[in-house]
This record gives sequence, structure tokens and C-alpha cells, in this order.
Amino acid sequence: MERVNASKTALVTGANKGIGFAIAQGLGALGFTIVVGARDDIRRKEAVERLLAAGVDAYGVALDVTSDESVTAAAAVIDQTSGRLDVLINNAGVAGRFEDGAQDPTTLDLDVVRTVLDTNVFGVVRVTNTMLYLLRRSAAPRIVNLSSTMGSLTLQAGPILAAYAPSKTMLNSITAQYARRLADTNVIVNAACPGYVATDFNGFDGPRTPAEGAAVVIRLATLPDDGPRGGFFDDSGPVPW
Ligand code: NAP
Repeated sequence: MERVNASKTALVTGANKGIGFAIAQGLGALGFTIVVGARDDIRRKEAVERLLAAGVDAYGVALDVTSDESVTAAAAVIDQTSGRLDVLINNAGVAGRFEDGAQDPTTLDLDVVRTVLDTNVFGVVRVTNTMLYLLRRSAAPRIVNLSSTMGSLTLQAGPILAAYAPSKTMLNSITAQYARRLADTNVIVNAACPGYVATDFNGFDGPRTPAEGAAVVIRLATLPDDGPRGGFFDDSGPVPW
């Protein structure tokens, strides 16, 4: 594959496994320097080593998207190492506990809702706003938020999960807010659904591979300057909100 993006830097949150790791592999193969954002030291180191072994330029930053201190420190490392950020992939996400009716709306455990929102929504806002000054230094900054058709109010896809699904609905809404706010800048923000992908997230139950799930994300991360903004896409094109 042609390394057309050499010298560009992409941060992938939750890049140590699953779809995040596949996004890192895919963008790395296109020539991006990959910043592996991961909260666990050992898993982060192993992911960086796997990428380096595959010929990808990569380094790790400690990153817990629920922690102001962690995200601020990660931005400082990227600033010192790369000086700017061209692509931010907000991939880190959690499904939340669902045993014992915890995500049945009629018995919903509000602590689970708080936990899921903390990572899937507030984490995205925290990381995006902290990294924005680095993205603004890029000639063509792109932000992709990992959403899900489960968050589509039109489709209402998948099982009833009254913390997870609304977290992706709110993420979609926040994505639109960012796109409106950044409409007159070169920062392009979109949301992506990877489809149902076999990862730890669902006990490796999904029919799609992480690489297949990563494809739409990589496409949105490498949009031309006149590409779509503030949309929600999967492999087939726009997804209804
Ligand atoms: P996964 O294999 O469980 O990976 C999730 C990643 O997020 C892991 O690297 C995890 O790190 C990281 N993470 C969780 N909380 C974090 C935090 N507070 N700070 C930093 N990293 C954190 O799941 P996946 O299937 O690849 O999912 C990736 C994204 O795709 C999620 O946003 C998910 O909602 C979305 N998605 C997945 C599917 C699917 O079918 N799999 C479908 C639609 C959307 P640890 O290893 O440290 O836990």
C-alpha cells in the first residue's frame, strides 16, 4: 500500500485491541504515525510492539479517557513527540454491565448509565477538547467518533441496552454539535458505525472482523477537504440518525 500519509500523526483511543487496533493497523499501513492511546501499560506496550513489527511507525501514550490528568498528560507527550495531530479516532468505549436487568429500562441501574456515559460520551468530549489545539496545527484535521446503529433512533437496532444505546445517541448528537461549531474550519468531524464486529466487547460474537469494522473509520479519517461533515456513516453510506 502506498504510504501517502507519511509524517501525519493519528491518535487512536483504546487502540490496544479490537476495532481500535485494526484502525491503528490500517492507518499505519497508509503511512500515518500511530499514537496508541491505551490505559493499561502492558497492553499498550504489546500493541505498539505488534505495530512496529508490522512496519508501522507507532508509539504509545498512557490514556484513560475518563481522567482529565491522563488526557492532559497524553496531549503533552504528543505535542513533544509529534508537534501536532492530524487524525483523532475516538474509539474507546464500553458496553456497561447488563446482568440482572442493569440495562433494562424498567430496572435501569443509573450507576451503569453514569459509567457508560463517562467513557462513551464525556470521554470523547474530554479527549477532543484537550487534543483540539494539536489538531488545529494540522493542514487537514479529521475526527472520527465510533458510534453504533444501536444509537440510531430511526433504526433502533440490536438488543435493548438502555445505557449503551443512548450513549451512542448522545455521541451522535455531540458529533453534530462539533461539526456545526467547526463548520468554518478545516476540522472535519464525523461518526462511524463499524457494524457488528467480533471483539471482547460482545464475547467475539459478531460476524465481522475488526479490519472490516475499521474500514469506514479509515475512510472518514482520510477524507478530502471537501468531504462530508457532521454525518453518520457505515460501509453502505449514511446511517439514519
Ligand atoms: P473492545 O475490543 O472491548 O475494545 C474497547 C477498547 O476501549 C479497549 O482498548 C479498551 O481498553 C478501551 N477503553 C475502554 N475504556 C477506556 C478508557 N476509560 N480509557 C481508555 N481506553 C478505554 O471493543 P470494540 O468492539 O473494539 O469497540 C471499539 C468501539 O467500537 C467502541 O466505541 C464500541 O462502542 C464501538 N462499536 C463496536 C461494535 C462491535 O460490534 N464490536 C459495534 C458498534 C460500535 P482496555 O483493554 O484497557 O479495556
